[in-house]
Amino acid sequence: MSHPQPGQLWVVATPIGHRDDFSARAVETLRNVAVIAAEDTRHSRPLLIHYNIDTPTIALHEHNERDVVDAVVRRLQGGESVALISDAGTPLISDPGFRLVRAARAAGIRCIPVPGACAAIAALSVAGLPSDRFVFEGFLPPKAAARRSRLQELAGDARTLMFYESSHRVAESLADMRDVFGAQREAVLARELTKLFETVIGEPLGELAARVVADPDQQRGECVILVAGRGEEVDENLAEGQRVFAILSEELPPSKAAKLAAAITGASRKALYS
Ligand code: SAM
Repeated sequence: MSHPQPGQLWVVATPIGHRDDFSARAVETLRNVAVIAAEDTRHSRPLLIHYNIDTPTIALHEHNERDVVDAVVRRLQGGESVALISDAGTPLISDPGFRLVRAARAAGIRCIPVPGACAAIAALSVAGLPSDRFVFEGFLPPKAAARRSRLQELAGDARTLMFYESSHRVAESLADMRDVFGAQREAVLARELTKLFETVIGEPLGELAARVVADPDQQRGECVILVAGRGEEVDENLAEGQRVFAILSEELPPSKAAKLAAAITGASRKALYS
C-alpha cells in the first residue's frame, strides 16, 4: 500500500546524496499526504521541487520536536495523513522523529515506513567487514574524555562497530580509536557515499588515522567510520607455555601439567590442555 489513508504517519527515507536514490513509493507518498513534517523545510525544498511534490510542509526538528509533537498527533487524530522526512536518509537514525513516532504509536496511530537510504547501512554494504552482527553507535561525544570513555566501553565488543562522524572531528576520532582499540584493528572510512567524491578506504586503524591526518581531502564531506569487532586475542605466552607444558607432561598427567604451565607462563590453561 502506498496511497495514504486518513490518520496515518508515513516515515519516509530521502536520498543521502544521489537524487535518484528516492523510491517511486516515497515520491507517491509525499505527493499524497496532507502535510510533510520536515527537519528543515528549506533544505528539503529543492528535492521536493525536483520531484514535483507540492504538499505543504511544516518544520519538525530537534529544537521544536517536543512542542510540535502534540499538534501533529492531533492532526493525525483529526484524520490528516502526515509524512515525516529528515534532511537526508532515514528519519530517526541520528535524526529527529523518535518522539513523534512514539507519541503517534501511543495514540494508536498507524506508522508506516517507506524505507530507503541510510548512510550506516550503505557503508556497511561495501565495507567488507563482518555484517552478520553489528552495532550502530551514531555520533560519538564531541569532548575527548567522554569520547574515549565511550570507546573503552566498546573495546571488547565482537560486533562490527558503526559510527557517524563530522568531517572536522574525523581525525581526532580515528586517533582515539587507534589508541583504544589498537593500531592493528581493521577499520573502514566511507566518505561522501553516492556523491561525486565517494571514497571507501579500508585499512588498520593506525594507517587509517595517519592517512586522514596527512590528507586534508579525507577530512571533507560526510563520513561513516566502521571498525571490526574485537577478534580472538593472540596469546603471546602460548609458545613459552607449550615449552613448559612439554617438560612437565613427561612427569605429570596432562591436566596437571597444563595447570602448572599456565600458572608459570601466563598462557591459557585451556589452550595448553587442548
Ligand atoms: N538519517 C541519516 C541516515 O539515515 O543515514 C543520518 C543523518 S546524520 C544527521 C548525518 C550523518 O550521517 C553525517 O554526519 C555522516 O556521518 C552520515 N552521512 C550522511 N550522508 C552520508 C554520505 N552520503 N556519506 C557518508 N556518510 C553520510
